[in-house]
Amino acid sequence: MITTKKKELKTILEYLEGKKNILLIGCGACAEQCMTGGNKELLEMAEILKKEGKNIVDSLLLEEACYSLLLKKELRQRKKEIENTDAVLILSCGVGVSCATEALPKVPSYPALDTLFLARVERHGHFTEGCSLCGECVLAFTGGICPITYCPKGILNGPCGGVVDGMCEADIETPCAWVAIYTRLKEIGRLEDLKRTAPPKDHSMKRKPGKVVVKRNDFKKIY
Ligand code: SF4
Ligand code: SF4
Repeated sequence: MITTKKKELKTILEYLEGKKNILLIGCGACAEQCMTGGNKELLEMAEILKKEGKNIVDSLLLEEACYSLLLKKELRQRKKEIENTDAVLILSCGVGVSCATEALPKVPSYPALDTLFLARVERHGHFTEGCSLCGECVLAFTGGICPITYCPKGILNGPCGGVVDGMCEADIETPCAWVAIYTRLKEIGRLEDLKRTAPPKDHSMKRKPGKVVVKRNDFKKIY
């Protein structure tokens, strides 16, 4: 899931300065789990903005704010409200803002959240970064532990010279990713994987913006 954090209210009010009629959009998937853009946060934001003299034309909680087609469908049913909208405030990750921007080309859209990272859900409300979306996964050779995400330097053939008693020099409270990889490979009897020198990352695999089309039995990556 994608983690998000709330922007400061002061920043949001600056975005909305001079704009009276506001449409709110929230996300019932990741942002709801992060407690940044679900139903409760939409209600709270509506109350705050009303106190600031704004008029909330509608408040829309989408199943997933990143589902562009769904958003367009919902907005088609709200033509009248949108005619009177001065700004859209989106309580979701940046993808939701991008979808709203495309769906409402004549209305300015603003993010209420900052988008952080792709996360593992440890338990309710606890998230840790799980993958840096490098486009060319090396986990097969690192015992399932990602050196790009867990090593602050993203070293592919580690460790660096800064390991301190098994801990990382960049954060002495955190175990070195490569010590963790070594321990894991030893546990699963795959230490020979460390003899392989990983080639430099092919950064063209991470070309932006990414575009993928998936059909049954067919996968196509298009740039
Ligand atoms: S190597 Fe790490 S960053 Fe790259 S795809 Fe795999 S888990 Fe994600
Ligand atoms: S100590 Fe380990 S985790 Fe920290 S930067 Fe060096 S190789 Fe990466």
